[in-house]
Amino acid sequence: KRRGRNLAHLYDEQDQDSSDFKASIRWVQTLNEAIVNDRMLLHFQPVVRCQSREVVYFEALVRLLIEDKLVYPGDFIPALERAEDINLLDHQVISKAICMMSRYPLLQKVAINLSAQAFDDARLLPLVEEKLKQYGVAPNRIIFELTESASLSNLDASRQMMQQLKQLGCEFSIDDFGTGFSTFSYLKRIPADSIKIDGSFVREMHLNPIDHALVKSICEVAKVLGKRSVAEFVEDEKTLIELQALGVDYAQGYYICWPMDIEALQAHYGS
Ligand code: C2E
Ligand code: MG
Ligand code: MG
Ligand code: MG
Repeated sequence: KRRGRNLAHLYDEQDQDSSDFKASIRWVQTLNEAIVNDRMLLHFQPVVRCQSREVVYFEALVRLLIEDKLVYPGDFIPALERAEDINLLDHQVISKAICMMSRYPLLQKVAINLSAQAFDDARLLPLVEEKLKQYGVAPNRIIFELTESASLSNLDASRQMMQQLKQLGCEFSIDDFGTGFSTFSYLKRIPADSIKIDGSFVREMHLNPIDHALVKSICEVAKVLGKRSVAEFVEDEKTLIELQALGVDYAQGYYICWPMDIEALQAHYGS
C-alpha cells in the first residue's frame, strides 16, 4: 500500500519491505489472538496536579500478555500502524477502558491514546458513543491523547471528527508535543484542551538548560492559548519542583507512580 495504489509487488525474502510486511502480519495475528483470549491488558498511570500532587486522571497504556510475559506497545504499535490495522487496537482499548471506568470508581477520568489513523476511521465516533451509552459513562470523563507518529493524512476530516468528539463532551490532548509531527502548527489546527510536553525535554531539564528553556516556552505558549500543560517522564523530586516553579499544570512519571494494573492501582490508592 505504501508504494502506491494499484501496484503489485513481488514478494522477496531479502527485501526490507517484505520482511516488515511479514512482521506486521504476525503482529496483527498476535493482537487478534490476545483479544480473543483476553490477553490485551490496560495499565494505568496517574497524572497529578503539580501544586497539590492530587490525581487528576489516569492514562490507559496497553500491554499484551504473550506466553506470560508483558509485551509493551513499542514492540507492536509500529507494526500495526504499518499494516494499517491499528484501528483494531484503538477500538479494543476504547471498549475496555470505558468498561473498566464503569466498574472501578477510582477511574473517574481516563486518558486514552489514539493513533493518527484513528481519525480516518468512520467507525470511531459511533463506537465511542455506543460504549459510553452502554456503560453509562459520561463523555467528559474521557481525554483522547493524540499520539503522533505520522502526520494526519486528511486534516479536514480529522478536525471534523475531533470537533464531533468534543461536541459529545470528550477532551483532547496533544501527546509528545515538540517532537515528530506534533509541532506548533498543530496548535492552530487541532482543538486540543491540553498539551503534553514530550518526556525527552522533561527528563533532563534540571541538567540541560536547553531542555529547561523548551519546557518553559511550551508551558508559556499553553498558558497564552488557554490550554493546560502536562509534563511526562517526571523521574525525580527536583524535576517536579522545577515544573511547579514554571507553572506547568500537571505531571506524570515514574517518580510519581509507575503504570500499574487496576488491582495494584487500587491497592496503591487504598480503594
Ligand atoms: P505515551 O502515550 O507518550 O506514554 C508514555 C510512555 O512513557 C508509556 O510507555 C509509559 O509507560 C512511559 N513512561 C511513563 N512515565 C515514565 C517516566 O518517568 N520515564 C520514562 N522513561 N518513561 C515513562 P508505554 O506504555 O510503553 O507506551 C509507549 C507509547 O505507546 C505511548 O506513549 C503511546 O504513544 C503508545 N500507546 C500506549 N498505549 C496505547 C494505546 O492504547 N493505543 C495507542 N494507539 N497507542 C498507545
Ligand atoms: Mg499518551
Ligand atoms: Mg506521551
Ligand atoms: Mg512519549
